[in-house]
Amino acid sequence: MRLAVLKETKPGESRVAATPETVKKLIALGLDVTVEQGAGTASGFPDAEYAAAGATLATDAAATVAGAAIVFTVRAPEVALPQGALLIGTLQADAAAAQAYATAGVEACSMELLPRITRAQSMDVLSSQANLAGYRAVIEGAGAFDRGFPMLMTAAGTVPAANVFVMGAGVAGLQAIATGRRLGGRVSATDVRPAAKEEIKSLGASFVGHEDEESKSAQTAGGYAKQLSAEFYAKQAEVVAAHIAKQDVVVCTALVQGRKAPTLVTEAMVASMKPGSVIVDIAADAGGNCALTKPGQAYVTDNGVKILGFTNWPGRIPAAASALYARNLLTFLTTFWDKDAKAPKLPPEDDIVQGVTLTRAGAVVHKMFAPAA
Ligand code: NAD
Repeated sequence: MRLAVLKETKPGESRVAATPETVKKLIALGLDVTVEQGAGTASGFPDAEYAAAGATLATDAAATVAGAAIVFTVRAPEVALPQGALLIGTLQADAAAAQAYATAGVEACSMELLPRITRAQSMDVLSSQANLAGYRAVIEGAGAFDRGFPMLMTAAGTVPAANVFVMGAGVAGLQAIATGRRLGGRVSATDVRPAAKEEIKSLGASFVGHEDEESKSAQTAGGYAKQLSAEFYAKQAEVVAAHIAKQDVVVCTALVQGRKAPTLVTEAMVASMKPGSVIVDIAADAGGNCALTKPGQAYVTDNGVKILGFTNWPGRIPAAASALYARNLLTFLTTFWDKDAKAPKLPPEDDIVQGVTLTRAGAVVHKMFAPAA
């Protein structure tokens, strides 16, 4: 049985869905692995290392997927896949794309839809990628900041510690807090989920935020933040406005599942910030938490605030992001691997399988796209 690893085609996508390390393990499962030439180049994995791991290299996407039963990718592939192929990636499909997979007879699994349950943690691409994005955001924020993070006491005088404010304390935000602290910043953070407050404090950051009756139930059963009332957001904004004017580096990570990212930093808040301060908006893929973020760009506002609104933050640390992503996909496949048949076996009733499966046997099956009940 052949597994294909495609070279990514989306502009700026530097990651790859299998590394030489995971290729070895895929081969150990009994698979033949074909890797498209140059697939790992942008993340630091040369063709020669894939070949040494036992993969066959193919010259283009069509040759890579020819005869493949399983296809690994980071983003939705543009090449036509063989009938019956099991496609595993972060496909970000809408209803039309899901239908196109069904029509093509592709069994599409979209890993960003994985349930956030303990059993799924080792295959959780959202967590592995968000963790690295949170780290990278602070590193780039520190690089763009014209002063240092730690308090530096020198014979020539003292440089104060940077005030770092992390907005959203999920997986990315908690890593941003930890990274900001390791660099010596004075870190504070905000979130709306009640559980986040203790997590923020346990990492040594101070909590800034509005709490009321509504915020006690700000979390969905799945652990995500709920969309809250306009009144709540207005109160949160009041607290944030007073705090943000004193911040040097603001790291934005707040998301509400399935919606545009909430606007937490208004134009007026940016205007209140000192020249030279930095806003790093890793929510830019979902529109950004800062009203002035230009997704995909970094620029300096009229009052001298640098806004880093790059998209695909995991892709800005591609070797580590690929290594973890590739292990997530490998774990998914090995979890649902029939050793005797040397083939994947995805039980439709399994909650992980149900969570990620878009299409099966020519039909769209994901509840996200099921006709409204
Ligand atoms: P996310 O990326 O959806 O959102 C990032 C953070 O933004 C969240 O903490 C959210 O509460 C916060 N946020 C939303 N609106 C906000 C606002 N107005 N102001 C401030 N913050 C706001 O979240 P995530 O990182 O994917 O984590 C979601 C949840 O899933 C968390 O509870 C996390 O602990 C949980 N999780 C569980 C597992 C597991 O296996 N058990 C794995 C990963 C994540």
